[in-house]
Amino acid sequence: MRSAFSCVHNVGMNIARIPDGLKRLHFENRFTRELPADPETGSARRQIRNACFSRVRPTSVAAPRLVAYSAEVAEMLGLSAADCESAEFAEVFTGNRLLPGMDPHATCYGGHQFGNWAGQLGDGRAINLGEVIAPGGDRQVLQLKGAGPTPYSRSADGLAVLRSSVREFLCSEAMHHLGVPTTRALSLTLTGEQVMRDMLYDGHPALEPGAVVCRVAPSFTRFGHFQMLAARGEIDLLRKFLHYTLETDFPHLLTQYQAGSAQIVLAWFAEVCERTAETIAHWMRVGFVHGVMNTDNMSVLGLTIDYGPYGWLEDYDPDWTPNTTDAAGRRYRFGHQPAVAQWNLLQLANAIYPLVEDAAPLEEHLRGFETCYTARWQQMMAAKLGLKAFERDDGELLDALESVLQLTETDMTLFFRGLAELDPAMLQRPAELMDPLLQAYYLPGELTDDVRSEIHAWLAAYLHRVRDDGQAPEVRRARMNEANPRYVLRNYLAQQAIDKAEAGDYSMIHELLEVLRRPYTEQPGREAFAEKRPDWARSRVGCSQLSCSS
Ligand code: AMP
Ligand code: MG
Repeated sequence: MRSAFSCVHNVGMNIARIPDGLKRLHFENRFTRELPADPETGSARRQIRNACFSRVRPTSVAAPRLVAYSAEVAEMLGLSAADCESAEFAEVFTGNRLLPGMDPHATCYGGHQFGNWAGQLGDGRAINLGEVIAPGGDRQVLQLKGAGPTPYSRSADGLAVLRSSVREFLCSEAMHHLGVPTTRALSLTLTGEQVMRDMLYDGHPALEPGAVVCRVAPSFTRFGHFQMLAARGEIDLLRKFLHYTLETDFPHLLTQYQAGSAQIVLAWFAEVCERTAETIAHWMRVGFVHGVMNTDNMSVLGLTIDYGPYGWLEDYDPDWTPNTTDAAGRRYRFGHQPAVAQWNLLQLANAIYPLVEDAAPLEEHLRGFETCYTARWQQMMAAKLGLKAFERDDGELLDALESVLQLTETDMTLFFRGLAELDPAMLQRPAELMDPLLQAYYLPGELTDDVRSEIHAWLAAYLHRVRDDGQAPEVRRARMNEANPRYVLRNYLAQQAIDKAEAGDYSMIHELLEVLRRPYTEQPGREAFAEKRPDWARSRVGCSQLSCSS
């Protein structure tokens, strides 16, 4: 079997032709240097032991071609537009060429999928190229998603299609600009090859264009990495992996606690709980439904990771899930995300228990997650409503809002944005109270007198609360418009961009990328990107129903 290293020396690329920015990428691969490797290389499927990763090369593809790149991520890595638009860039970030210093590998993790322990999973179609020390000094892992099989691909092909790659590329960047912790995306490339997918798992496979996304994050460490080591009973390696994680991703804890102590493990777990709470509160704020919150899709850094059958709430329905694979149990529905996060943290706690050997403090941190989540959620709701702070009596107002939003199909994004246009002075003109909100309603025929009077009652209570809060209207409006996005990656917009891209027109991907860079700012001329879902998209595949097929 060919060593994965042979490729590092035999990059097949004339070094003189590598664009300057790519040449300057400085790799320092701590993961592969400090953690034990699977002795075997290559992509033959296997279970590994006593190791954290396997070296494996991306598969070469026919015709790499850049579709889009994120200017912000490129800049973070020190890459110019010319670097990103070069032919070599497309070669490197589809996996055809390796740069000196890259050490491609797939990592091993396990996980609970839909509540059941699934055993070894691992990077089945993700290949880490290496860790770059960015010009700003930060460490960033470059990871190709869809670059071919790895030892962890199980029965699948290690590839990704354009449809799901457009969704991952756009959503990672959109989430970042919304202020939600997330992995980033440097590039979206086509491989020039066709990939067979049965999109709805209904026995109708078809060829789709193959694509690769280069994801970027300080680390891609998941709860499942710890679970896998615990499940294999490799406690020394579990301890080593945690120490590695502390050094790489949580160095501040090593200055406060003694390395190797139970205290540092607990402090780390507490921080993972806090970061998770923070991220989930953001999801609830912007109306994001992850769709597959399995423990292998949970980042210890609290980053949103693995954009699969995710979706954005259109009408406010806490029971909604975009994932057809989860339609029966709706485990990962919008309103259940905080509870699932806590359940996932419990699985992480079980995994690290051997390093603590005391359940009580772990349980305390799990309860702490609830306290922390509730506090963050209350803060965010206060911001969404333009209140200075959440006060105890506001619980009632929020409960009532939850009902009001479900009286009839109500677009969450438009509702909150419209709410900012209301003012206590309008209490004098009750007939106009609902005007700024009318665009949020999908079924105007359902706005009966009874429904209207319930909405009115809530709006009046809200505006009294706003008046008592005593903020200047412009201050309140500005605060609300920083918490309530005008533009989100509406499911149907992503699908329109995909439809066009599949026909060879990438303009809408570029347009969406641009609009979503400033999601809180009114962008004249771009009103179409803020409109509620058109009726044709109500039940169209890709717009409201997505399977895990990607
Ligand atoms: P996901 O539900 O997308 O998070 O994937 C769960 C597991 O399946 C992970 O280990 C993935 O790497 C793996 N996987 C998903 N799709 C593929 C694919 N096309 N080829 C190989 N592995 C895959
Ligand atoms: Mg995954």
